[in-house]
Amino acid sequence: MLIVQKYGGTSLGDMDRIRAAARRAAGLARQGNRVVMVVSAQGDTTDLMIRKAAQVNRRGAAREMDAYLAAGEQMSAGLVAMAIGALGYPAVSFTGWQAGIATDGVHGNARILNIDAARIQKELEAGKIVVVAGFQGLDPEGDITTLGRGGSDTTAVALAAYLKADRCQIFTDVDGVYDRDPRLYPDATRFGRIGYDRMLALIENGAQVLHDRSVEFARDYGIRVEVLSAFTGEPGTIVGDVE
Ligand code: ASP
Ligand code: MG
Repeated sequence: MLIVQKYGGTSLGDMDRIRAAARRAAGLARQGNRVVMVVSAQGDTTDLMIRKAAQVNRRGAAREMDAYLAAGEQMSAGLVAMAIGALGYPAVSFTGWQAGIATDGVHGNARILNIDAARIQKELEAGKIVVVAGFQGLDPEGDITTLGRGGSDTTAVALAAYLKADRCQIFTDVDGVYDRDPRLYPDATRFGRIGYDRMLALIENGAQVLHDRSVEFARDYGIRVEVLSAFTGEPGTIVGDVE
């Protein structure tokens, strides 16, 4: 199977969690699967970077902001690839542009237009786990773009579509999609399955579990997205067609 797994910031929040993600991916690869990992910046790195940037330029310089923020995901990708290597499994990290992700030129909220996945395919065929920095791409001018807050989800779903992956898993700090925020409402109920449109409605009402464009992408390309806890690995919620 070809499996795309996305790990959010909390799921990579410290070195133990980085190693746990590396072990999960290496375990699947050792069973004969081809594995692509999409990684977010660690913990609250992106928030801290945004605050730092505001100290030097409060008016926002969108192009430079993207150049700066994309580095958070790039750091995660390198670290995760090294953690996999330390387990004795070959891995290679890619930035969004090395992964062939082409976007429009809307800095800070770019849309993925195309993915030339040849280089990823080549490394998968060579037996490596491919670790892709989420949240970023390259615009027609050759400038770095970012996909909007939470955009690594969209990187993962788009890669799953272009690679024709068998599975697309989003590992996060909650164990699925709930009808309300489970961190605020203890009696919130979890969906075993949820349709794309209902999921989009939840996001519109403030749910942050998935980036809205990742769900639009999944709907348009017919990708089933599994949302599950990075800590338990138990089955979570499937976002897909509900019959
Ligand atoms: N690191 C980015 C953010 O915090 C992108 C992501 O995590 O998906 O929004
Ligand atoms: Mg998120």
